[in-house]
Amino acid sequence: MLLGIDIGGTKTAFALADRQGRLVARSRQSTAPSGRPREDVARMLEEVRRLLSEAGIGTSALLAAGASVPGPLDSRRGVLMHPPNLEGWREVPLGEWLADELGCPVRLENDANASALAEWRFGAGQGWSDIVYLTMSTGVGAGLILGGALYRGRDGTAGELGHVPLEWQGDPCSCGLRGCLEAYVGGASWARRLRSSAPRACRALALAGSREALRPEHVVMAAREGDPHALSEMARFNAYLARAIVQICFSLAPEAVVLGTIAVAAGDELCFEPLRALVAQHTWPHQAPYMRILPAGLGDELPYRAGVCVALESLES
Ligand SMILES: [Zn+2]
Repeated sequence: MLLGIDIGGTKTAFALADRQGRLVARSRQSTAPSGRPREDVARMLEEVRRLLSEAGIGTSALLAAGASVPGPLDSRRGVLMHPPNLEGWREVPLGEWLADELGCPVRLENDANASALAEWRFGAGQGWSDIVYLTMSTGVGAGLILGGALYRGRDGTAGELGHVPLEWQGDPCSCGLRGCLEAYVGGASWARRLRSSAPRACRALALAGSREALRPEHVVMAAREGDPHALSEMARFNAYLARAIVQICFSLAPEAVVLGTIAVAAGDELCFEPLRALVAQHTWPHQAPYMRILPAGLGDELPYRAGVCVALESLES
């Protein structure tokens, strides 16, 4: 049996799967980290034991465990460095703690890489050997599957495409640099921009109810109703995202670029069709038809699949 854990800022997902990665049980804890990593991990292990006993097995049945965790991460040593959304977690040797308790090999992977593995094995990227996955959530994480394997680069830090600069003196990014892709299309920075710049009469603001509550999903809803401000915001989003995808096309020539959260919510008409047209305009004629731009396929299953896919990697290497 394989165990997968996906640790997020507000919830943790647990899954048991057979050695082909087929899910057999799953559960979720909605507790935010307490700031005391030892206690947080003890609570997670309690849930793992509960899930195992529900499935009628013990830890001795575990072949491997995998955890999808927020970066930055030292994946070789299994140490979480100082993830911004896990308060109080600094230099946490999670790999060692889990292995001591579970008695099986444990592998850790940053959440973007783990999600890329999941979309490749079980989601929109199935059947290809070269895909690029962009999370498109609060931030913009990316995972690269190249030649049928996760490409980690030096110390597992490859794929930081969210911080590729699109404008040298552009909008400030949470990473400290300026003009990064994430500064334009990441959910958190887009929400900040909307709150400060949305005109008083726009539909997104009416849907949100207040400036503080305004988020990209309101823009998506308003754009569906044809609101001009929302449509111009979507055009800006697509234009910046297309710049990054064109760079991906020229540098990696993947078979597919798979886009998560915000892009999936926006759908074909508001996001994928305009993106494909922009990318086709800015690449050579033979390139665009071979590089698909696709919505992620796993939806709510993603966190369960992500942890299990990291465990699968540990079996296969
Ligand atoms: Zn950045």
